[in-house]
Amino acid sequence: KQLMARGLPKQKPLAGVKQVIVVASGKGGVGKSTTAVNLALGLSANDPDKTVGLLDADVYGPSIPKLMNLKGNPEVTEKNLMRPLVNFGIPCMSMGFLVEETAPIVWRGLMVMSAIEKLLRQVDWGNLDYLVVDMPPGTGDVQLSISQNIPVSGAVIVSTPQDIALLDARRGAEMFRKVNVPVLGFVQNMSVFQCPNCQHQTHIFGADGARDLARTLGVEVLGDIPLHLSIREMSDKGQPVVVSSPDSPEAEAYRNVASAV
Ligand code: ADP
Repeated sequence: KQLMARGLPKQKPLAGVKQVIVVASGKGGVGKSTTAVNLALGLSANDPDKTVGLLDADVYGPSIPKLMNLKGNPEVTEKNLMRPLVNFGIPCMSMGFLVEETAPIVWRGLMVMSAIEKLLRQVDWGNLDYLVVDMPPGTGDVQLSISQNIPVSGAVIVSTPQDIALLDARRGAEMFRKVNVPVLGFVQNMSVFQCPNCQHQTHIFGADGARDLARTLGVEVLGDIPLHLSIREMSDKGQPVVVSSPDSPEAEAYRNVASAV
C-alpha cells in the first residue's frame, strides 16, 4: 500500500528519507520496541532493494542498542553529523549510544525536544526508503514533537488484546489523528500462546481485543504476533527473530505486518 506523507507547513522533511513510520503504544511493556525492530527487519527482508533505518525515540528507556546488539559512540562526519551504527544492514540511532547504559536520563521538556531534534536531524541517514521510529510509550511531548517536526507517513500502534492496554492504544490512535498522522493500523501482540509440549493454544491476554477496537475506530489490523518464548529470548540476545529464525511462524508474522504497512 502506498503511503502518503501529509506534511503540515512547518514540518521539514528529513534529508534523504522518503517515509517515516512511527511505532507507538499506549503503555509500556506491550512489545512496541520488539515490533519496531522486527518491522524494520521485515521491511528490509520483504524487499532487499529498500533501505531501512531505525530511530530509537524512546529517549528515557532506549532499548534499540540491546535489541539490535549495538554498542558504542557514533562517529562524527565532516559535515558534523552523527554516523548511525549498523547491524543486520539497518542503520540505527539511539540515545543509548550517547549516554552510559546505567546513567539516569533526567530531563526537562525542552531538553527532550532538543535531544529528539538532534537524533532526527544531526544524523547522516543516507538515502532511506523507510525510517522506522520506536516511540516512547504513551501520548506525550515526544510523540507531539516528532509529529510536528517531520512529515510522518503513518503510525503503527502496538497493543496486547487486554482491556487496559487497549484503552491506552485508543488514546494513542486519537492523538495521531489529532495531529494529522494517518494511523496505518494496530498490531495485536501476544494474542495467543501455544504450549510447546501439547500445542494447546491459550489466549492469555484475551483473543480479539485489538481487532474489536480496530473495528470500532475504523482502523486496520496489520497482524497478530503470538506470545512466543523465542521472541523474548532472541530479543534479549540481540538477535531478532526475523533475522535469527527467518523460517519460523513468528518471523513470518512480523514480515506479514511489514507487508501490510
Ligand atoms: P515495549 O517497547 O512496549 O516496552 P518490549 O518490546 O520491550 O515492549 O517488550 C517487553 C518484553 O516482552 C520484552 O522482554 C520482549 O522480549 C517481550 N516480548 C514482546 N513481544 C513478545 C512476544 N510476542 N512474545 C514473547 N515475548 C515478547
